Amino acid sequence: MFFATQNCCLAAPDPAYRHHDRDRPQPPVVTPATPGTQDRPGRAPSDAVVLFDGKDISKWLSLDGTPAKWIVRDGYMESVKGGGDIRTFQNFGDCQLHVEWAAPSPARGEGQGRGNSGVFFGLRQYEVQVLDCYGNQTYPDGSAAAIYGQYPPLVNACLPPGQWQTYDIIYTAPRFEADGKLLVPARITLFHNGVLVQNNVELVGPTGGFVQQPYNPHPEKQPLALQDHGDAVRYRNIWVRELGMPGKKEFNLPDALLTEYAGSYTSSGTPVDITREGTQLIASLGGARFVLFADSPTTFFAKTTDVRFEFRRDQQGRVSQLIWSIGEGGITATKTR
Ligand code: MG
Repeated sequence: MFFATQNCCLAAPDPAYRHHDRDRPQPPVVTPATPGTQDRPGRAPSDAVVLFDGKDISKWLSLDGTPAKWIVRDGYMESVKGGGDIRTFQNFGDCQLHVEWAAPSPARGEGQGRGNSGVFFGLRQYEVQVLDCYGNQTYPDGSAAAIYGQYPPLVNACLPPGQWQTYDIIYTAPRFEADGKLLVPARITLFHNGVLVQNNVELVGPTGGFVQQPYNPHPEKQPLALQDHGDAVRYRNIWVRELGMPGKKEFNLPDALLTEYAGSYTSSGTPVDITREGTQLIASLGGARFVLFADSPTTFFAKTTDVRFEFRRDQQGRVSQLIWSIGEGGITATKTR
């Protein structure tokens, strides 16, 4: 049942516990975040994944999986014109995301051309607009803190260009049926500089484009991304807390790597075919089909059955073997094409 597995959407207290139940587990203890100032970034809470600490950009890649081309200096990273969007290596579903950003100062350009960037959930899928809207007007559903093309912010809480601003975003991923039909739309709550500007709005599909596009089914967890819109927007202190059921870490591997893994593998037993569909590998064996998710650059799992797949290389560096198992053990299969 949808309700039982999706605690993002709980609408009633857990019936497993009585009112004031003393045997109920205590909430985990977390050291809270500290707020930043204009001179100093804040600090992430103790249970967050720090995505950018002002120095290390290694958790971000270009969209094609090659190293990120943005500049890192003086405790921030800066979008480079033509450098392209950057995205996280790790995938995230329901989450709390904290981002600090600053628009170029002095301001240049107007409308959508002034300090444009964006925070994406998924690759170019759902954009929270980043724009210098301090004394700069544009179409309301494209202004700072808008869900681009869908929801203008409730108020304009922008600080002047050059000043550090915060986004605190609660994102609930959309859910799809196995056949791709939309089950629940994505939802976003957003505080801009501590002011509520999006109150649990329901997205009607991906953002962007000249007309509204329908939802495209995708896995619950996807990379987060930051937009290169040609303006030198800066970011610092980015952290994320995964919400909902604890699960395995998932990673978004470069397309080129997935293509290397695709092929036919044989052993004395069942042959295994690995194919690539978009950003995902599919394993076919014994009449079954598994959608695979990466939990490291070489290992994959499925969400329906406890299968594991590990790809190995020969001494020349070519992908040559697949170790696979269902529930227990491990079978070594050799790549034949
Ligand atoms: Mg943008």
